[in-house]
Amino acid sequence: MATLSLHAPLAGWLMPLDEVPDQVFAQRMAGDGLAIDPTGDVLHAPCDGRVYPMPGSSHALTLRSAEGIDILLHLGIETVALAGAGFQLLVQSGAQVRRGQPLLRFDLDLIASRARSAITPILVVSGGQVIAATTPAHGRSVLIGDLLMEVQPDHPPEAVDSSAAVSADPLIVRRGLRAGFNHGIHARPAAMIVAALKPYKAKLSLHAHGRSANARSAVSLMALGVQQHEAIELQASGVDAEAALAAVAALLVEAVDRSDTQAQKAPVPASERTPLPDCLPAVIAHRGLALGRAVQLHQLLPSFAEFAEDADQQSRALDAAIEHVRVHLQSMMQGQRGEQQSILRAHAELIQDPELRDEAGQWIGQGRSAAYGWHQAIATAQRALGALADPHIRDRIADLRDLELQVLRVLDGQPASAGVLLPEAAILIADELLPSQLIALDRSRIAGICSARGGPTSHVAIIAAALGIPALVAAGDQVLQIADEVELLLDAERGELLIAPDAAARQRANKSLAEQRLRHAEDLVASGAGSETLDRVVIRVYANLGSLADAHTAVTRGAEGCGLLRSEFLFLDRQQPPDEDEQRGEYQTVLDAMAGRLLTIRTLDIGGDKAIPYLPLPPEENPALGLRGLRTSLAWPDLLKTQLRAILRLQPLSQVRLLLPMVTEVDEIRSVRRLIETCRHELGTAAALRLGVMIETPASALLADQLLGEVDFLSVGTNDLSQYVLAMDRGHPRLAARLDALHPSVLRLIASVARTAQERDAELAVCGGLASDPDAIALLIGLGVREISAVPTAIPELKRVIRSLHSGACVELAQRALSLGSARAVRELAIASRLEVSGA
Ligand code: PEP
Ligand code: MG
Repeated sequence: MATLSLHAPLAGWLMPLDEVPDQVFAQRMAGDGLAIDPTGDVLHAPCDGRVYPMPGSSHALTLRSAEGIDILLHLGIETVALAGAGFQLLVQSGAQVRRGQPLLRFDLDLIASRARSAITPILVVSGGQVIAATTPAHGRSVLIGDLLMEVQPDHPPEAVDSSAAVSADPLIVRRGLRAGFNHGIHARPAAMIVAALKPYKAKLSLHAHGRSANARSAVSLMALGVQQHEAIELQASGVDAEAALAAVAALLVEAVDRSDTQAQKAPVPASERTPLPDCLPAVIAHRGLALGRAVQLHQLLPSFAEFAEDADQQSRALDAAIEHVRVHLQSMMQGQRGEQQSILRAHAELIQDPELRDEAGQWIGQGRSAAYGWHQAIATAQRALGALADPHIRDRIADLRDLELQVLRVLDGQPASAGVLLPEAAILIADELLPSQLIALDRSRIAGICSARGGPTSHVAIIAAALGIPALVAAGDQVLQIADEVELLLDAERGELLIAPDAAARQRANKSLAEQRLRHAEDLVASGAGSETLDRVVIRVYANLGSLADAHTAVTRGAEGCGLLRSEFLFLDRQQPPDEDEQRGEYQTVLDAMAGRLLTIRTLDIGGDKAIPYLPLPPEENPALGLRGLRTSLAWPDLLKTQLRAILRLQPLSQVRLLLPMVTEVDEIRSVRRLIETCRHELGTAAALRLGVMIETPASALLADQLLGEVDFLSVGTNDLSQYVLAMDRGHPRLAARLDALHPSVLRLIASVARTAQERDAELAVCGGLASDPDAIALLIGLGVREISAVPTAIPELKRVIRSLHSGACVELAQRALSLGSARAVRELAIASRLEVSGA
């Protein structure tokens, strides 16, 4: 049979595959051939054939010759991460081209600077064998059109779509799962799947988007265009079908593309993994220390078939599963309080979302199973939310994943939430912990939590804080390699996880834990007393609240008032905004629960970053810089007016303060004042309402003097202030460790606001996360802050710290901190100075 000649598609330097800096190509997992380090910027056809670019990207394409030989031209290494940037296809998919015809233009500079390498493998991936190749002498240059290799066609060519063959075999096994590769199934993962199947005889096909591919053909796998997290189904038949399916499923679920730079699960087999260090750094989500044993929580989706025959029956099954989960959520709600309860309530609302059900119904109507339809509906919603880059939205994505899992479990005949039998003192480890998982577990057995991903503002971090469980997040892939039962020391004081700590470390931890328990008990006993420094400077310690249950906790932990009631809890996850009476009723209940203490109600802090069905907010490219907080309220003045009227009707109003979020200029305050006047007039009341603004933007910090001309008090929101001052997204998992409000720039702004407040004899509070940080209290006092508002559970410890401080030493400490150059330096100083400033 005639051979096929392949010619150089690029000018450049020729090299053998062994020298390609990528194991998948170097080990010929994807196919045999040669590579070229290009010097030009256009890729040409190495032979006549039909062109098939990689779906969704254009860094690679396949050429199918008339003999049925597939040639993969993969421009550069790890170029999939460029997501098409720098590549311009010059031909249509499926076009018949002639040898030497230009196929793809690329930006060599961009590839050189942003990808790992521009070296381009030219591979025969199926349909033939390389029988002769030009010797790629080291440093040998080639020109476009030079002869590269001769390929002998296989006979007959391998079928691209083997689903029919698979279905014909009665011994068929199936499994539904989600693709785990970061960039979907592109060239490298496809080659890894093909390689993983080599030891098996079974026929295996992969199904997605209503199409199927032979899992032994890299080209047909790539042609499916499967993206990460997409639902796929594997079907295998033959003697070792189960084992072959398990091998590929393990690769698809656990493996991620090692080219990806994001923190993800480790794909490599144990033998290839880098050894685990003794200590892994992580971001503190809730402070504390825990000694216990590792429990890895896996959250694989139950398997499901894509297709089902009886649409009515699938539809009923889905309705029943949704209802089952809703009832289950509601029954769990009874036994929970505070944050756990509000998250469950949000889930119970979200699961009834008509759009989710409609979308799932459409898939079912097209012959898909209930599970597949639900999975697709959730995936669509996740994609829509994923386009919005906001931390609160990321919480919603985790919520959706959680609900997906619960419904799929019920459809699979399992209980909705996966209860795991925990050993004593379990340290839970997960890629990302879902709220339902945490709520379903036996709290008394959880000593600590560590997640590979997530940020300090995620729901799990909030629940961990509410339950008082020490927690670390963003610990990276390696935590997922820790074996179950391994002893761990989770140090959420220093932000590290010690693996198999030695006897000395264990002893130290046990001693600290015993001391900590004693201290907590003592702190709680003393929490009812006031808090003033050793030299009698009174610091008011208030609580941040997000629900009625929080108010109860706050009062029992010694809160002297509420410095921030986040009123969003009343507005999210519902189809209509709460009316005036409902709002008044809820605020009044919280006010009554505060039993004579001050209540600071923040107006709705919502915007393009949070999806609420009743506000037609346009999608925004930069939600954090868009319609947020007071801007949104002023854009929907009726919504704000309803809230103001509800607040003005509270009794006694003297116990209430009003706080405005995301202010940048005085006119915004004047607009609110005018609305308050209108409401007063309508209600026939003249009662005074103290008004304050949050200092959350650099603009408001720098304008504090002007703002104080309009309001009675200021409250610094360090969470947002840090994000805007440091230009770091609040929810960015990779910046989480650096987004520290102790950064000297943030402190300098607080110092300037404090000076202004002092000059005007105005009240200044800090209500952002920094106020709950025991290491930061001395600095805040040193900067002139006299009121803090913190997470309720943190209050007893904060009061103890305050009582141990001397304000003069705090001022000196603050001055030193202001002269430092980084958050890390300030934090080190704050920790080192704990004893120094204690006046001891
Ligand atoms: C803040 O930004 O610091 C703050 C308290 O507001 P939130 O965390 O609700 O945005
Ligand atoms: Mg804020």
